[in-house]
Amino acid sequence: MRGIEQLKKNHIDFSVISVLTEQALSYPDELYHFFISNGIYRVGFNVEEIEGNHQVSSLNTQEADDKYFGFMERLYSLTSQPGNQLKVREFDRLRRAICNPTKQATQATPLSILSFDYAGNFMTFSPELLSLDSVDYGKFILGNIRSESFNTIADNPKFQRINHDIQSGVHRCRQQCEYFSLCGGGAPANKYFENGSFNSTETMYCRYTQKILTDILLTDIEKQIGIREAA
Ligand code: SF4
Repeated sequence: MRGIEQLKKNHIDFSVISVLTEQALSYPDELYHFFISNGIYRVGFNVEEIEGNHQVSSLNTQEADDKYFGFMERLYSLTSQPGNQLKVREFDRLRRAICNPTKQATQATPLSILSFDYAGNFMTFSPELLSLDSVDYGKFILGNIRSESFNTIADNPKFQRINHDIQSGVHRCRQQCEYFSLCGGGAPANKYFENGSFNSTETMYCRYTQKILTDILLTDIEKQIGIREAA
């Protein structure tokens, strides 16, 4: 909060990332008013993910899914009121995706995202993979920019194996999931750490960041269309 005061005092624009646990889902109104009353007008919500050493999430239950739906539905309603000042990253992202359906998720597309650590190690796909390791591939790092060029990445056997597994998962998503045109096959890191394989489909993460939010937004859009048609 002291940091926010400094940013405001110096007229530096900022946004906030708020991590949701199961406990937070009972308080959509309180959170909304907290942001507004503290001059926070742009927020992104990260859910408590299962990744790396964090192997358990308070959100991974049917009860939490239902609460999350209620939380986001209420937040969507609050941010749809005339005069609302709060922008929610997830709603904006999804509105853009509805207008421009995707072919494939950025996180699952080689070299769409490049991540580096302080030592020059690099990785592509989900950024968090850079600092994680696994039983199947060892460290996910694909090379070091001080000694290797990206041009060699396609010949790297580890890259080829990871890419093959990720693309197999995307292919299964494309065939099986009705949300594919908005999601594009999801986040490889979440698939790996939740399902034990890149070559998999649904995760808790995609339910929260894609499926549940899509249901809320599309229900509202259909309601608006119904109101207009009736008028
Ligand atoms: S929503 Fe989940 S299951 Fe559907 S395409 Fe995305 S990652 Fe795959």
